[in-house]
Amino acid sequence: MKNEFMTQGKEENIKLDFIRQIVADDFKSGKWGGRVATRFPPEPNGYLHIGHAKSICLNFGIAEEFGGTCNLRFDDTNPEKEEQEYVDSIIEDVHWLGWDWDDRLYFGSDYFEQMYQYAIQLIKAGKAYVCDLTADEVRDYRGTLTKPGKESPHRNRSIEENLELFERMKAGEFPDGSRTLRAKIDMTHPNLNMRDPVMYRILHATHHRTADLWCIYPTYDWAHGFEDSIEKITHSICTLEFENHRPLYDWFLDAVGAYHPQQIEFARLNLNYTVMSKRKLLQLVQQGLVKGWDDPRMPTICGLRRRGCSPESIRNFCKVIGVNKFNSTIDIALLEHCIREDLNKTSQRVMAVLRPLKVIIDNYPEDKNEELDAINNPEDASAGTRKVPFCRELYIERDDFMEEPPKKFYRLAPGREVRLRYAYFITCINVVKNADGEIVELHCTYDPATRGGDAPDGRKVKATLHWVSAKHAIDAEVRLYNNLFAKENPDEVENDQDFTVNLNPNSLEVLTDCKVEPSLKNAKPLQRFQFERLGYFCVDPDSTDGKLIFNRTVTLKDEWAKIQQSQQKS
Ligand code: ATP
Ligand code: MG
Repeated sequence: MKNEFMTQGKEENIKLDFIRQIVADDFKSGKWGGRVATRFPPEPNGYLHIGHAKSICLNFGIAEEFGGTCNLRFDDTNPEKEEQEYVDSIIEDVHWLGWDWDDRLYFGSDYFEQMYQYAIQLIKAGKAYVCDLTADEVRDYRGTLTKPGKESPHRNRSIEENLELFERMKAGEFPDGSRTLRAKIDMTHPNLNMRDPVMYRILHATHHRTADLWCIYPTYDWAHGFEDSIEKITHSICTLEFENHRPLYDWFLDAVGAYHPQQIEFARLNLNYTVMSKRKLLQLVQQGLVKGWDDPRMPTICGLRRRGCSPESIRNFCKVIGVNKFNSTIDIALLEHCIREDLNKTSQRVMAVLRPLKVIIDNYPEDKNEELDAINNPEDASAGTRKVPFCRELYIERDDFMEEPPKKFYRLAPGREVRLRYAYFITCINVVKNADGEIVELHCTYDPATRGGDAPDGRKVKATLHWVSAKHAIDAEVRLYNNLFAKENPDEVENDQDFTVNLNPNSLEVLTDCKVEPSLKNAKPLQRFQFERLGYFCVDPDSTDGKLIFNRTVTLKDEWAKIQQSQQKS
């Protein structure tokens, strides 16, 4: 048993979230015979996003902590929107997040026959009927929260007639939408979900797994409980919007006398500046508003991966936000904080110049090269050091120089001395401009006594700049990302506007003329680095031998720490 609660027996000292508390209580009382069985049940109609990660970490996490099992189950009951591509991506993403289901990979569609048998059982018990109302009519008959529903004229068909019609529905005799199988519950029930809900609809569509075997498909409510039941799930964890479906979940399972898991609801993850519905993410992809499901601006798992996030940081984020019963919106700065914390510990530091400005060290010999020692990761001594080449011509960042610096600008300016990281102190002695008045290069002198970055006479400089050797630098493209949406709540629109009006026009900036240190020559796709003073960056998988592309994962500025500080003050 890996759960601290179990091993240490210090239950009062460990604050469990409300779901883990239920699981722990059941574990103790022996309700499920000491079993803990959860599942993650995605519908394969899109790629997984960071919200799914919360559910994945919850379900797989609980199973791991209590020595139980978690199944990966595709809830594939809607053939029109589901595809193998999504199945494959979901498998890849859950694995990448670090979870495993051994041989417990299941598909709801594998249970279609069993569900069909349960439906027949329900008809035979007089608890289900074939209804000829159209979808619109069913909706009208349902009533509202304040108005009771009306019974379908087909509600009192004989069991024999229902069995025959249902059989013919399955045999494909009727067109799409012409008939449904409905549960006979109560058209005046205060919970609308209980007003004779539809169990099966006719749909002549090819399913990604069962092909054309079926032309009737179960609804989510009818299917989901049986999927859990057949797999002997103990705790069926889902998001809050299913809370008022729970009476139906319970009713269906009890009506056929099936094994009955406990459904527990928690609040879904919402992030500001982010949309999280698969329908909207699909729209962004289909309309070409992003480059694909794995565009680094997307909140998808594959997008976050391509952007340079580690699985550990996403798991840690899910731990930090916790689990509760109330819907809220998490600040995206917290996600970035978690990503940054992890990258700070794990990523190698390198020097890269995004907007290069040439510097010529006039008193440095033209044919001389030096190899200077640079620290790979100050947070991790075992990462060691590397050599960076230095020579007479270098690049520094354009905005690290100002010809007429304002008061608080401490970096390079005419006549001023600064440190080049791991190298020397340099002083700017001349600024060269082109005919348009743009600065094209700087001339500097260096002090050979400051090798390594310290002056033996103890004199100080106010700034340390990163740089790369012009002769040795590698060209690179760097893509800077900002929030995909400009509005905190992207769904806030006027009248009939679409959420896409809130897209941030500056969510991507591409810099094509960047210079990076030569040690990056052998960088591998998805390898993560800190570019000193700039942020965390990751090699884009589209990089080729001739062209290195980096994605900015996050900047170094920790907005979350700032928010926390200001909250502590107030
Ligand atoms: P979407 O609303 O994005 O289309 P969904 O709920 O339709 O998501 P499913 O494939 O059915 O997507 O989700 C699989 C599991 O992930 C479900 O148990 C669902 O409750 C959970 N889940 C989906 N979105 C979130 C979220 N934002 N936060 C937490 N859990 C989520
Ligand atoms: Mg769903």
